[in-house]
Amino acid sequence: MSYVKKLKCLLCSAEYKPEDVKYTCPKCGNDGILEVIYDYKEIKNHLSKNSLKQNNLFDMWRYLPLLPVNDQSKIGPQEVGGTPLYEPERIKKDLGVNFLWIKDDGRNPTASLKDRASAIAVVKAQELDEPTLTCASTGNAASSLAGACASLGLKSYIFVPKTAPRAKIAQLLVFGSNVFAVNGTYDEAFDLSIKATEEFGWYNRNTAFNPYMVEGKKTVALEIIEQMNFDVPDYVFVPVGDGCIISGVAKGYRDMFNLGFIDKIPKLVAVQAKGCKPIVDAVNGDGKVHFVVPHTIADSIAVGIPRNRIMAVRDVKESTGFGISVSDDEILGTIKYLGSIQGIFAEPAGATGFAGFVKSIRQGIISKNDKVVVLITGNGLKDVESAIRAGGEPLIIDPNIDAVKKALKND
Ligand SMILES: *Cc1c(COP(=O)(O)O)cnc(C)c1O
Ligand SMILES: [Zn+2]
Repeated sequence: MSYVKKLKCLLCSAEYKPEDVKYTCPKCGNDGILEVIYDYKEIKNHLSKNSLKQNNLFDMWRYLPLLPVNDQSKIGPQEVGGTPLYEPERIKKDLGVNFLWIKDDGRNPTASLKDRASAIAVVKAQELDEPTLTCASTGNAASSLAGACASLGLKSYIFVPKTAPRAKIAQLLVFGSNVFAVNGTYDEAFDLSIKATEEFGWYNRNTAFNPYMVEGKKTVALEIIEQMNFDVPDYVFVPVGDGCIISGVAKGYRDMFNLGFIDKIPKLVAVQAKGCKPIVDAVNGDGKVHFVVPHTIADSIAVGIPRNRIMAVRDVKESTGFGISVSDDEILGTIKYLGSIQGIFAEPAGATGFAGFVKSIRQGIISKNDKVVVLITGNGLKDVESAIRAGGEPLIIDPNIDAVKKALKND
C-alpha cells in the first residue's frame, strides 16, 4: 500500500480519500486540481538517506515510498528516470559560471521527462482495472503514454494537435496507439479528450486533471537532490507549458524537505517562449494567468491555457523564484549551443530552460556564483525539423577526394 494520506483540492481545500475521487475536486470542477498529501512520518520508517544509499535500483522506482503506488506488481518494464546530471565543464568555462548542472531528461525511454508521469498513469489505470488509457498532449505526454501502454499491453487513445512534430506522431504510431490528430490546438485537444473520457470511460492521464502526474514528475527533483548529495542549488530553471513539471520539481524538493533530508527549497525559474508566456507574466506580476494564443517553435510548451497554472504560479512565488521568456531565435541558438559545445541534444522546449538561464546570466538577474540546475526536458530527435533549422544544412559534395579538398579550403 502507498503512504498517500489524502487528496486536497487546490481551490477549496476539501480533502478526499484517494479511493473516493479519481481526477479533480467534485465541488470545484476541472480547475479543482487535487494535490497528493503523504504521511511523511510513516514514510520516514521506510526511507532514509542511508536506505537510499543502499538501494541499487537506479530508475524512478527507487523512490517507491514517496510514490502513489498501491500495487507494485503493476509497474511497467520500461526503465524510467535515472538520467544523468552533468557538470558541463566546457559550458561553465565558456559562460564564466562557477556552479552549473544540467539534468538531461531526454535520456528516458521515449526521450522526454513525460515518461516519469506516464509510468505512474499506467500503474493507476491497472489498479482500477482499466485497460484503456487516453490523454491529450502537445506530443511528448502522448508518446510516453503510448510507449508505457505498449510495454504492458494496454490500449491507448491519444489526442494531439495535428501540427505536432512528425517524430512524436511517428512514436505514437509505432507504439500502436490509436491516434486522433486533432484539427485544432493542444488546448482544444485537451477539452476533447476530457469529453471522450466521460463518454467512453477511459482512464485519463491528462496533466493537471489526473492528480498523480506531478508525483511522477517530481522524481526528477528527487534524483537531482541525491545526485548533488543533498546540497540544494540556488536556482532550478524549468521550461513551462501547463506548469506540471515545475510543480513536480517543487513537490520533489518539498518531499525531501518534509523528510528532513534537505534544509531549503531552491528558487524555481519558469522559462517560456516569448510567443506564449502566460505563466511568466503571472509569476512576475500579480499572479493572475491570462490565456493567450500560442506562437512558438517550442511545441511542447505552446500552451495558451496552462492547466496547472494555479499550482505552478503558487510554487514559483513560494520559492521566491521568477519567470523569464526567450525568443524562438534564442531557443534555436541554444539548441545549437548545447549540442556543439557539450554534446547535449535538446528539442526546442527542452532547450528553453537553458536559454532562460543564459539570458538571466547576461542580464545580471542571477550571478556567476549562484548554484544553478537546468532541466533539459526532451531530446532533439523529437523534432528534426527544428534541429535542422538550428544546425543548418550539410554541405553536399561530389564523391571524390578533390571535392573534399576543395571544401576544406573553403572551411
Ligand atoms: C511537457 C513538456 C514541457 C512542459 O511541461 P509542463 O508540465 O507542461 O509545464 C517542457 N518540455 C518538454 C520537452 C515537454 O515535453
Ligand atoms: Zn475544491
